[in-house]
Amino acid sequence: MLLDAGFELACNDTGRKLDREEQKALIADAFAVIAGTESYDDDMLAAAPNLKLVVRFGVGTDSFDLEAMKRRGIAVGVISNNNCVAEFAVALILGIMKNLHLFDNAVRQGQWSRFTMRELKAKTVGIVGFGRIGRRLAQLLQSFDVELVAYDPYMNEEEAKRLNVKPVGLDELLACSDVVSLHIPATSETRHLINHETIAKMKDGAYLVNTSRGVLIDEAALKEALEAGKLAGAALDVFEREPVTKDLALNSLDNILLAPHVAALSVETNYNAGITCAESVIRVFNGGTPLYPV
Ligand code: NAD
Repeated sequence: MLLDAGFELACNDTGRKLDREEQKALIADAFAVIAGTESYDDDMLAAAPNLKLVVRFGVGTDSFDLEAMKRRGIAVGVISNNNCVAEFAVALILGIMKNLHLFDNAVRQGQWSRFTMRELKAKTVGIVGFGRIGRRLAQLLQSFDVELVAYDPYMNEEEAKRLNVKPVGLDELLACSDVVSLHIPATSETRHLINHETIAKMKDGAYLVNTSRGVLIDEAALKEALEAGKLAGAALDVFEREPVTKDLALNSLDNILLAPHVAALSVETNYNAGITCAESVIRVFNGGTPLYPV
């Protein structure tokens, strides 16, 4: 699409993340950047004086200095991966409640370990962050006969009503939810939102699911709560430090299901993301806005 529209492409084909100087050299003449998880702070943006758009091949913008982009007149766009991540959140919720990782491991070891699991039906699911992914999750959970509550300081009341979701404060959500699923951005406000204090407010035996960003959870506090049985289980796609190593402290626990930040990595989403990024570049070049503006 971009070549057909007359753009020239400069790609990072090294197969690794560029260092800052390499990144600066690559974007020096760019009109638009299609960004991974590398950083675009003010100093990096200064290296690309013609830059008019940064579009993320994803939705997290925590590696962007959005204020600096606004000041420099650089439009910011993201892609749409809400269905993919919401489906993965459902998979993690069911996976940890059904102990799928333990059963799989047991059968592989030749062990017929037929212990029990939990059902989602009639439970309360608390959705923290009622944005695109949180709302899609609420939609996907409709057929499970669950109670849905959500916390979002910028609550979309109309959508909440349509999806039969009760808007609540964070404390109420933590106190009433059997499953808490996180769908908020990583900001200075949300760092370690789940910590000793907030875990203490959670229902005994609740499950915690995180497909957002690792920094939302104090992993040491989570480990204590899982060891003590305060929480029944957790399922994490994201971690405080990525990529994780074998030394990840949470590795020693059975009641935790782990994935390597893959919630958005479907074939379908990757394909559509490419098209969205190209379309956003062309739209901005023609004086419009990105397809999914930030
Ligand atoms: P979104 O912007 O549509 O929704 C985020 C919502 O969080 C917004 O409604 C916002 O009002 C709300 N919010 C902001 N601060 C909050 C706070 N302090 N407390 C409660 N709610 C708050 O974003 P989205 O597309 O739904 O994505 C959510 C997050 O998921 C992203 O920020 C990203 O970090 C993460 N994500 C992870 C993966 C993955 O691969 N695991 C993929 C996509 C997105």
